[in-house]
Amino acid sequence: MADNRDKTTDQMKIWKESRSSQKPDVLTTGAGHPVGDKLNLQTAGPRGPLLVQDVVFTDEMAHFDRERIPERVVHAKGAGAFGYFEVTHDITRYCKARVFEHVGKSTPVAVRFSTVAGESGSADTVRDPRGFAVKFYTEEGNWDLTGNNTPIFFIRDALLFPSFIHSQKRNPQTHMKDPDMVWDFWSLRPECLHQVSFLFSDRGLPDGYRHMNGYGSHTFKLVNADGERFYCKFHFKTDQGIKNLSVEQADHLASTNPDYAIGDLFNSIANGSFPSWSFFIQVMTFEQAEKFQFNPFDLTKVWSHKEYPLIPVGKMVLNRNPVNYFAEVEQLAFDPSSMPPGVEASPDKMLQGRLFSYPDTHRHRLGANYLQIPVNCPFRARVANYQRDGPMCMFDNQGGAPNYFPNSFSAPDTQPRFVESKFKVSPDVGRYNSEDEDNVTQVRAFYTQVLNEEERQRLCQNFAGSLKGAQLFIQKRMVENLKAIHPDYGNRVQTLLNKYNAEAKKNTNVRVYSRPGASAIAASSKM
Ligand code: NDP
Repeated sequence: MADNRDKTTDQMKIWKESRSSQKPDVLTTGAGHPVGDKLNLQTAGPRGPLLVQDVVFTDEMAHFDRERIPERVVHAKGAGAFGYFEVTHDITRYCKARVFEHVGKSTPVAVRFSTVAGESGSADTVRDPRGFAVKFYTEEGNWDLTGNNTPIFFIRDALLFPSFIHSQKRNPQTHMKDPDMVWDFWSLRPECLHQVSFLFSDRGLPDGYRHMNGYGSHTFKLVNADGERFYCKFHFKTDQGIKNLSVEQADHLASTNPDYAIGDLFNSIANGSFPSWSFFIQVMTFEQAEKFQFNPFDLTKVWSHKEYPLIPVGKMVLNRNPVNYFAEVEQLAFDPSSMPPGVEASPDKMLQGRLFSYPDTHRHRLGANYLQIPVNCPFRARVANYQRDGPMCMFDNQGGAPNYFPNSFSAPDTQPRFVESKFKVSPDVGRYNSEDEDNVTQVRAFYTQVLNEEERQRLCQNFAGSLKGAQLFIQKRMVENLKAIHPDYGNRVQTLLNKYNAEAKKNTNVRVYSRPGASAIAASSKM
């Protein structure tokens, strides 16, 4: 046997060695009954049939039949790890949350990184945003900062979310990824272009999960001990440095090592090389928000680093691998509405939509009592409420404590100091069209000021290499959108499309477009 195998490959060997001083446990059924034979069915004679009384078989098979829980609709493929968050700078003037109580304070965290559109067996190296979700186990309940590796998102109105995701997933008839669906949606909704430009730039193919930044992405509200409120954005900057894969490397890994990012994270932690991120906030006052040149709650936009500089807060370190993937990662459930006192939602329409959607999906996937599952349990707080019963109730169901409120029997009571901050909402209720809320200025800044010439070239090649799979009218509409951002952006992509389309016309064979993972929409310059 090779002796230079990595820690993921050697997991079974390492587990055995960890128990070398112990005798193997007695094998039991799920109910704990010792089992005498686990290799042979109980049958009438050597040729069968099987007896229903063979509970060694029925216990095993019935559980096996129920092993899978629903896959996450998005972010199905992921990796998790555990560690801590430590405060390095005082921000109590902005936020009273106890997680920021004093410099040096340490809080346990769980993190899940993921791709977005692929299924749980898809390749880790596809072109796709990456999920970057952090659960802080605070003594005031869990705080879930459920973000991505980009500070922005494709859309700004949550009503579009199911359609957006459908367009990135499988065609309803062919069950294949469909470039018409992907690009039709993106070209019809030009607010997508900021995120689409990030996606087809170099950062669309991060080298594993350790070499990318994470962002809370939404605008949140911070409240200090005096009740003063601020708007805020959260940033995790990788201490490993940004590192991306080339299209060729990503394509190669997708076929040779589709679990590349999971393995990279696991091995790094198992080898004692603990990845870390520095944590920053950007802060905007309510007065600044009123005068801000953009809607400060628009998830398709950033706040300029120059106008709203990054304020250092702390450091997050991941130093423990999951002991069991299903228990600690597949069941790990993040919920943007899970916030401790001092952190609150802003009016961001996407955030507001997610406040409902995330806990709703967990109740479907994991059950109404998903917060009792150990990895989701707010174990540093004491849960005391009036919720009872439901499937898979795992603790004592709060024993004999009253199950209604108010009551006269000294049961859990409210404390006014935890009431959320007040805010004014005066406008007329309506369905406001946000389609045209400046979809170009920040994308233009990204294209002209952030990217250098080589990065611009690669962006256009990746972009056209994918867009060429869509019908001509969709290509045309998308190029018009790009020209509105910058003529050079549109012209370069059009020139490449002309070349690809001419080549395709010459080729009389039926064209089958490469559809590697999800949104990867492969985008290879060599296609
Ligand atoms: P700045 O020059 O102050 O910030 C630019 C930021 O862009 C950098 O700090 C870095 O953010 C990020 N960045 C650098 N290279 C890339 C890349 N190849 N792909 C994606 N992001 C990159 O300018 P502004 O803050 O005024 O923003 C200008 C433009 O920069 C924006 O319109 C936006 O497109 C883009 N941008 C801004 C971010 C922000 O939060 N302000 C973040 C990311 C991009 P980081 O350190 O977070 O990686």
